[in-house]
Amino acid sequence: MYRIIPDAVAIPQDTADVVALVQRAAERRTALIPRGAGSGMAGGNVGPAAIVDMSRGFTDLAVDHEKRVARAGASVTWAQVNEAAKPYGLRLPPDPSSGLFATCGGMVATNAAGPRTVRYGSVRRWVEGLEIVEADGSVRTVQRETGNEKRFTLTADSRRLIAERFPKTRKNSSGYALDRFTESGDEIDVLVGSEGTLAIVTAVRWRLDPIPPHTAGAVLGFADLGAMADAIPFLVSLQPSALELLDDTLLRFIPDAPRTACLLIAEFERETATAARGVVGDAVRGLKQSLAHVETAVDRKGLDQLWQVRRLASPSLARLPSSQRSLQVIEDGCVPLEQLGEYVTGLRDASTRHGIPVAIFGHAGDGHVHVNALPDITRPSWRDALRRLFDDVTELLLRLGGVPSGEHGVGRLRAGVLERFYGGEVMALFHDVKRAYDPLTILNPGVIIPATDWSPLAALKVGDGAAPIPDDIATRLRDVERNAGWAIPKLELTN
Ligand SMILES: Cc1cc2nc3c(=O)[nH]c(=O)nc-3n(C[C@H](O)[C@H](O)[C@H](O)COP(=O)(O)OP(=O)(O)OC[C@H]3O[C@@H](n4cnc5c(N)ncnc54)[C@H](O)[C@@H]3O)c2cc1C
Repeated sequence: MYRIIPDAVAIPQDTADVVALVQRAAERRTALIPRGAGSGMAGGNVGPAAIVDMSRGFTDLAVDHEKRVARAGASVTWAQVNEAAKPYGLRLPPDPSSGLFATCGGMVATNAAGPRTVRYGSVRRWVEGLEIVEADGSVRTVQRETGNEKRFTLTADSRRLIAERFPKTRKNSSGYALDRFTESGDEIDVLVGSEGTLAIVTAVRWRLDPIPPHTAGAVLGFADLGAMADAIPFLVSLQPSALELLDDTLLRFIPDAPRTACLLIAEFERETATAARGVVGDAVRGLKQSLAHVETAVDRKGLDQLWQVRRLASPSLARLPSSQRSLQVIEDGCVPLEQLGEYVTGLRDASTRHGIPVAIFGHAGDGHVHVNALPDITRPSWRDALRRLFDDVTELLLRLGGVPSGEHGVGRLRAGVLERFYGGEVMALFHDVKRAYDPLTILNPGVIIPATDWSPLAALKVGDGAAPIPDDIATRLRDVERNAGWAIPKLELTN
């Protein structure tokens, strides 16, 4: 959602190229911005510096099915990892919707997640090892549970502070994961989710999991948000492999979608067909009193049809009237599960207050919903209204004990609000982490640690203030947006 013209674009072909680039940058104090597919939403992949495009040179991929691991270069996509693992009955369980194009480097850097995260966690849980190029140009392999020499350690007081101050949400991609680092002592937990600010990832060693043999599910409609929120803890207790919300704010964009206040799509993976069917029956029976709509599916084919309504969401939002744009500025907040109903109600109220429609959907089972703001950019004051919406939603998340990002990262967009969520002392620890890894601040400055002139909506890609770019490129970028063509490599747009 940002447009920032970089100073240069480097396209390294191998680790030696990255090392040379980082060494040169360190000598000249030039900032580098690692970038994968460029699908990240928080503006961590753009900036006024040199882009390091990692989407092409790092394509090695090998599956060791006996050990259930895959070693993948940073450019390899989630879809490619899964395609290689599938013949062995294996998969990488967290399933970002952008899996067709999101790279291993980008997924690790943002701690990406997806619908299945409600059961299998975010990518963090599945990273066994990383190959990184550090800010001084050295190459290092970091592995889990091997007691690697760490660049950063925590005192007992800091550990207590972290336990106190980190919000208790099921997902979090907001800042350095010092809570996870405290628990595991593994350096990987600091690096996962560090958004290209501590090191450049060149390869990932993934742990893989067997593909469960049987799946069933249901679409459950509710007459009001309260009934939906009340149903969530019960459904989570049945261990769904996905529990996704489609709010009325989104359903109205989808032709032929059921007309209820909101829908939940629940998916269950089990070892036997009987168990998969049985749990769907339990879910429907348990919620009989509160359901306004039910459709069930007892196998993969039927379930794919149920998911269709969710798949139509993105393309329908992409085809808004030309005066209205879909901007991801408040898109990734996550709250404790019991606050989800209040969060969605608060989002709807803020949308009405500021005259900016929103579309709400996503990972209800994790207390994590996406919110696309849909401002009419022909209205003179749309930018001020959008900023007020951003501020109000930040307040709402703070009040509900939430975090500003569940899976996309804070990037440049949310760096300036982190201190409000964690407090000054934890933020000081974040600064210590950054200094330990990147003392010259050459890796993605302004991301996670905010720039002194942080201004979240200053570099939007739309409106009068948008940086000028050649007309043909602007047209191609707009086509990508209209046709949801996110898989088209951005480097190809200039051909
Ligand atoms: C239609 C759509 C659907 C999406 N759905 C999901 C979803 O379901 N779940 C989800 O988690 N996200 C989703 N996203 C967001 C995005 O796809 C993820 O954040 C993804 O992990 C980013 O991968 P990327 O390769 O595009 O990285 P980029 O966008 O290029 O970069 C993202 C961040 O990672 C850093 N980075 C990239 N490569 C490296 C590297 N090699 N080393 C160090 N740092 C690096 C960048 O500096 C930046 O801070 C979606 C995006 C779109 C457009």
